[in-house]
Amino acid sequence: APVVVAIDGPSGSGKSTVSRAVAARLGLSFLDTGAMYRAMTWWMLSNDIDVDDAEAVAIACGKPVIVSGTDAAGPTITVDGQDVSGPIRGPEVTAKVSAVSAVPAVRARLVELQRGCAEVAPRGIVAEGRDMGTVVFPGATAKVFLTASGAARAARRAAELRAKGVDEATIAAMAADLDRRDAADSSRETAPLAQAPDAVLVDTSELTLDQVIDTVAALVEE
Ligand code: C5P
Repeated sequence: APVVVAIDGPSGSGKSTVSRAVAARLGLSFLDTGAMYRAMTWWMLSNDIDVDDAEAVAIACGKPVIVSGTDAAGPTITVDGQDVSGPIRGPEVTAKVSAVSAVPAVRARLVELQRGCAEVAPRGIVAEGRDMGTVVFPGATAKVFLTASGAARAARRAAELRAKGVDEATIAAMAADLDRRDAADSSRETAPLAQAPDAVLVDTSELTLDQVIDTVAALVEE
């Protein structure tokens, strides 16, 4: 069976960086499923769909063609052929992605795409998100749930934004929005953020990035 490494956790747990690095080290493909929910949200906003109207979102969500490039050295994401890797990280998409990702029809569609990516990955895949171990890949080779203390997560997020030249007021606003998003992701009815019973919990608060990568890679090689 192909190797599937399922990595879940809240925002700021270091998930994306760790998942990509583990994929590169082990020669596996890499899938950022959050980028797919963001791409869907970007398309909804660009097409004037009312994203707070779950029924409208459900009806429209079959239309965009979302394609994830899964090379760990340079992952890509397109919607209807357009590169959206920049705009999906913007505040408009970030503010609305939880609402869109709570719609069951959206999840059904993207889960199918995610499983398809795993099937065609030549050597296997590291997939990161909120429901990789619980819903999308219940039979994964290895499952990891990354956490970090609130303080560690906030500090990391702020450092990332500061490195990008974002001003302090925006950093504070984005921190508050992130807490709202994590609460929404954890409390929604369909596929809430949760640790699978057979996932290994890794608390990254006191670990360096290299230590986390070593820990996760060791779980896969076990
Ligand atoms: O990982 P990222 O923060 O980019 O994910 C953006 C949003 O996409 C999350 O806040 C969540 O609402 C949604 N998401 C999800 N299921 C996943 C990955 C992301 O619902 N597997």
